[in-house]
Amino acid sequence: MKSITTLLKERTVLGDGGYLIELERRGCVDSGSGREKVGTGKGSGQFTPEVAIENPDALRELHREFLRAGSQVLQALTFFGTREKLSRAGYGADTERINTAAVKLAQEIAGDRALVAGSVSRTQLTEREGMGSLDKSRDHIAEQIRLLKDAGVDFLILETFFHLAEMQVALKCASDSGLPAIATMSFRPLITQCTDGHTPAECAKVMSDHGAVAVGANCEQEPKRMLPLVREMRAAVNVPIAAQPAAFRTTDDCHCFTRQPAFPDDLETIQVSRREFEAFGRLAKKEGITYVGGCCGCSPAYIRALANGLAAAQ
Ligand SMILES: [Zn+2]
Repeated sequence: MKSITTLLKERTVLGDGGYLIELERRGCVDSGSGREKVGTGKGSGQFTPEVAIENPDALRELHREFLRAGSQVLQALTFFGTREKLSRAGYGADTERINTAAVKLAQEIAGDRALVAGSVSRTQLTEREGMGSLDKSRDHIAEQIRLLKDAGVDFLILETFFHLAEMQVALKCASDSGLPAIATMSFRPLITQCTDGHTPAECAKVMSDHGAVAVGANCEQEPKRMLPLVREMRAAVNVPIAAQPAAFRTTDDCHCFTRQPAFPDDLETIQVSRREFEAFGRLAKKEGITYVGGCCGCSPAYIRALANGLAAAQ
């Protein structure tokens, strides 16, 4: 397999879709909504990846479906897999086992047909304890990246960070590990700035300056809503651009699905059609967005539509 940096130079790379929401729909991931209000930014909002050890066959099957849909990268399901987040969900002692198992499962299905990326996301400490917690974040993120590297991931996807400051911490940890990293911020409640007040262009510059091999956005918005912010990033930097939108309809007042009343138990009512992902694939190709995939709400059918859109644009 070619490296991610080589692939990004050659053509548009097709990633995969959202694992946690899809596996929650299949009954294998806990949304936490039965116990607490999810999506306020304060609750633990479970959505943790213990499925890797508790129901590995379900995870294997979803990897297989994304691969069949055309994904050239499979993300190990290590999202929300820091010891910090896992501890709050009751799985702290299994941190190493979950991260290692998730990588091994993705590798088993990818074989030599796809690259395996380790997914690293925010710890939720900044929402919970403020910016003073960044040193703690650093320890947790560094630990997870070490586990992912030991398990043999090809590269990292740093995703769904709300604070640019925590993303910088993660990029520093990635750089220390020697693994290439794609870095994507998530914007809420609006696409105009991230939670610690930086515009998409500023985020792109900082992530690029910190050595990300591609920069962009993921989650929270559907493709149409995300495109303007990704364009702003593209105009600000010279590195490849990545976009992994969600498949849920947002509103002019609130550009994020996790603050819609439908999150998390009525998401079907705001699901966008896979057609929007086909159109997104065509546009991405035309506009030079070089890494595309989907986030929450993107089942394999959406990735297949995205693949069709990319192919149609050639
Ligand atoms: Zn998402």
